[in-house]
Amino acid sequence: MSEEQKPVRIRADRDVCIGAGMCVMTADQIFDQDDDGVVVLLEPEPPAQYADLVRRAVRACPSGALSLVED
Ligand code: SF4
Repeated sequence: MSEEQKPVRIRADRDVCIGAGMCVMTADQIFDQDDDGVVVLLEPEPPAQYADLVRRAVRACPSGALSLVED
């Protein structure tokens, strides 16, 4: 499997999340927020076509709660 086809694995640290919602605004297919505004991963391992969107969301998060898990 080539690099581009690998699914992306996301880690979301709910203790670090400050509920800013940037991730949801960037990729609402992948991220949601619970009633307290804390991030919920709808797709912890989204397919490869979401990789760019996910990277954008990780960069947009102001708290550093999101990261990509690289094998
Ligand atoms: S952008 Fe970061 S701080 Fe904001 S809701 Fe998403 S994970 Fe939490």
